[in-house]
Amino acid sequence: MTSAVVIGGGVSGLVAAWRLALLGRAVEVFEATDDFGGAVCPQLLGGKVIDAGAEAMGIARPSGLELFSELGLSDVVVYPRRTDARIATPQGLQKLPPGVLGVPASTDDPLVAALLNEEEIQRARAERDVTITSEMSVDDVVGGRLGSAVVQKIVDPVVMGVHAAASDELEFTTLFPGMDSLIEQEGSLVGAAAKMRGGLGPSGSAVASLRGGMNQLTARLVDACVEVGVKLNVNTPVGGLERLENCWRINVDMVGVSHADTVVVAVPPTVAAKLLATSAPHLAEQVAALRTTSVKVVHLLVHSPELDLQPTGPGLLVRRDRMDVAAKALTHSNAKWAWWEDLLSPHEHVLRLSYGRSHQFASNVTDGLTDEELLAKAENDARNLLGVRKRFYVRASTVTAWPESLAFAAPGHSKKVAHIAESVQAIPGISLLSSPLAGNGLAGVVAFAQAEVSRIASTHQGEVP
Ligand SMILES: Cc1cc2nc3c(=O)[nH]c(=O)nc-3n(C[C@H](O)[C@H](O)[C@H](O)COP(=O)(O)OP(=O)(O)OC[C@H]3O[C@@H](n4cnc5c(N)ncnc54)[C@H](O)[C@@H]3O)c2cc1C
Repeated sequence: MTSAVVIGGGVSGLVAAWRLALLGRAVEVFEATDDFGGAVCPQLLGGKVIDAGAEAMGIARPSGLELFSELGLSDVVVYPRRTDARIATPQGLQKLPPGVLGVPASTDDPLVAALLNEEEIQRARAERDVTITSEMSVDDVVGGRLGSAVVQKIVDPVVMGVHAAASDELEFTTLFPGMDSLIEQEGSLVGAAAKMRGGLGPSGSAVASLRGGMNQLTARLVDACVEVGVKLNVNTPVGGLERLENCWRINVDMVGVSHADTVVVAVPPTVAAKLLATSAPHLAEQVAALRTTSVKVVHLLVHSPELDLQPTGPGLLVRRDRMDVAAKALTHSNAKWAWWEDLLSPHEHVLRLSYGRSHQFASNVTDGLTDEELLAKAENDARNLLGVRKRFYVRASTVTAWPESLAFAAPGHSKKVAHIAESVQAIPGISLLSSPLAGNGLAGVVAFAQAEVSRIASTHQGEVP
């Protein structure tokens, strides 16, 4: 039986480990921290389990729901309540029109008209043809086609909320995978957004999660790995990786040395670059050049009768010209996910605020702030955004830092990724699953891990029993 070692027990590593074991490999996972899941992990907020990191999975592509189904989780899949997300503008809250990452699925939608003036709407309706190349930003493509107002007023807050960087800093083809061919097929970006969205409901609804939170995915993946014989280790940071003649030698800090035919490196790019430096220096350099962004997430458990009416629906994205607020997004978790209602006392609410923007902006408020200072800011932001002035009492709170955790896919990113894929394929018995290679979202991460396992299996076909 051929063996595989997976370095990193986040979702990428666990999916890869499980699938490799299903193919008959002897698999061992080394995870540096004391638990699995990486950015998909539980945390306690006033005695209630919340998602410290990722809380939903995009369903525009099928990989996420398919994985849930394969893992026997279909019965606990949940969808957000069918109400529109909001955009926080200097004029107040406006409903976000349904679309794909802010690109509206129709320019005739009254919600689009509410966000743009007449001239801007006419410009959006007169969509211009723009040939898309991999060097183009979201701003170049969407602004060029629909006008800069659509970017500034609708797309940018969504892009910032999800990717923690602005639409003129991020590559269109990475953020909108498959959109260029859909544009050709449908004849317009708006048509492509409508097609990609399909029959999905209001804005913010193109996601799914699990009853109890996305952390349930990690729990189930761990069980699934155990069921197929994967050997799982926590508190085992891998400090070195060396290519020997016929296998890989993996140095696990404080544990010793392990050998494997295949190694799956499922850690963030900075860690991967260090591990690869000796045996694959060129690849290590390429991986080190991948850029990431740091974010912080604040959770508040509040008592506030005024929030019972759920004034912002599932939550909101903050426009950059909303100068009184430092958060980039706020999720009203129990308004978004109905399963929360069983767990909360009357007038109790769970709010999740995210902070951190690429460094170009002076408003990257998390820099240099203590957790206490950030909490004070979060409470203030929540009051301002939700319009609650009086009866708002914070009962519990958490601050979680996620350093270098989101891909910063600047124009040219997809070329870098393609070059990295070539380098990986030239090295025997290795797979690299650092999440920026798969795009930011869990659906991309899951699809990429599955594709990589198929690639490894096909290159070692003769050896798989
Ligand atoms: C705050 C936040 C919110 C997010 N929200 C969403 C969302 O709602 N929807 C969505 O689709 N996506 C979301 N994402 C993105 C998504 O969570 C990630 O893309 C995905 O979880 C990445 O998984 P991964 O396994 O590749 O990496 P990670 O989760 O980073 O896992 C890497 C693992 O490697 C381990 N490790 C590191 N170094 C070593 C070492 N030397 N040896 C052994 N192990 C090591 C780490 O401890 C970690 O467990 C969010 C991300 C963050 C940070």
